[in-house]
Amino acid sequence: MKEDNGVSRRSLLKSGIAALATATAATGYAAGSAQAADRQTDRGSSDRSSSNPGPRNSALQEQNTDSFQPPSTDHGDTPAFKYSFSLSHNRTYKGGWARQVTVRDFPISKDLAGVNMRLTAGGIRELHWHVPAEWAYMIYGAARITAVDSQGRSFVQDVGAGDLWYFPSGVPHSIQGLSPDGAEFLLVFDDGAFSEFDTFQISDWMAHTPRSVLAKNFGVSEAALRPIPERELYIFQAPVPGALESDQRAAGREQVPTPYFFSLRAQEPARKTRSGEVRIADSKNFAASISVAAALVRVKPGGLRELHWHPNADEWQYYVSGQARMTVFAASGRARTMDFAPGDVGYVLRSTGHYIENTSDSDLVFIETFKSPYYQDISLSQWIAHTPPELIAQHLHIDMQTLAAIPREKAVVVPL
Ligand code: MN
Ligand code: MN
Repeated sequence: MKEDNGVSRRSLLKSGIAALATATAATGYAAGSAQAADRQTDRGSSDRSSSNPGPRNSALQEQNTDSFQPPSTDHGDTPAFKYSFSLSHNRTYKGGWARQVTVRDFPISKDLAGVNMRLTAGGIRELHWHVPAEWAYMIYGAARITAVDSQGRSFVQDVGAGDLWYFPSGVPHSIQGLSPDGAEFLLVFDDGAFSEFDTFQISDWMAHTPRSVLAKNFGVSEAALRPIPERELYIFQAPVPGALESDQRAAGREQVPTPYFFSLRAQEPARKTRSGEVRIADSKNFAASISVAAALVRVKPGGLRELHWHPNADEWQYYVSGQARMTVFAASGRARTMDFAPGDVGYVLRSTGHYIENTSDSDLVFIETFKSPYYQDISLSQWIAHTPPELIAQHLHIDMQTLAAIPREKAVVVPL
């Protein structure tokens, strides 16, 4: 999926908070104006307390306006729930690259870790396995994935943008970029402490086993095993593979009974309004994915992913396109707002309340993932609408007419 990137346009804005405020107002889109209004309730745009005469990282500050000038409703010491792949060390090879966001860089993200990987056409992520399960979303291009389960059943499949895969814990697999331009994808692991740079590679194991034992194990001569590499390959360039059918035939034998592949792009949205839509993949429709549930959300400019929480799991987010702000309510008067751009990662602790607002003039697309076999959320509107209205009025002091207007059904993306 190739998405318009709103950041490049906005990053053209000259530095300086006054210039930023003027420019944000000038773009005129609803969400940007709303952001400014949230801040002005306290201080007003000409208040000198919003100046910043000292040193600053202008590019970073412009992308994080809700940190420097938070809405007046933010309060307290809620820990940061944003990191970016743009800050991650990138491991580069002929054939591709990989970078990760784990609990080591992003302390809040204990349940899930993410990897962003690029493979050229023919580029191979070496045959390997690891302890956590691997859930994946194809961002761009095409790739061929392979796996073999504990009963020797094989899996070989081509995947394109908008497709998912899931490799269960310990199942060995590989990924290879296809023509014309390889692939870029997101991997999510069901353990925040996972490291992509510490996995079991086929070449590494061979290199650290006595040749005589390898020869005995495979029933071949030691001389025949001499070409095996002396160290792991991890990512390397190779020719583009041939037809899928011939690779499937060659892998042979029985196929895995529950496919490790799911086409999310081919799914009808689980919910759709005039302002956006959500597609959900969990073990109900993607049977193999027993430890990771996911939602792909699209929100039109100015639109809102409604106020909600997830009773069953923490949420690990990846921003694909557009720009957003999210406020997380963490109880005891604590709330914090942060801003997100493509390539950023967000993390929301289980049961903490939040919304995601599109603050750009293009579609906002992001992925929600959960360490759970099923997707679940609780909508604030739906809760209010299905509670006796007098009881709600006694809490919130709002009139019956206003209460009656609150949507009775979960919209996911509020229709504007
Ligand atoms: Mn893997
Ligand atoms: Mn959520």
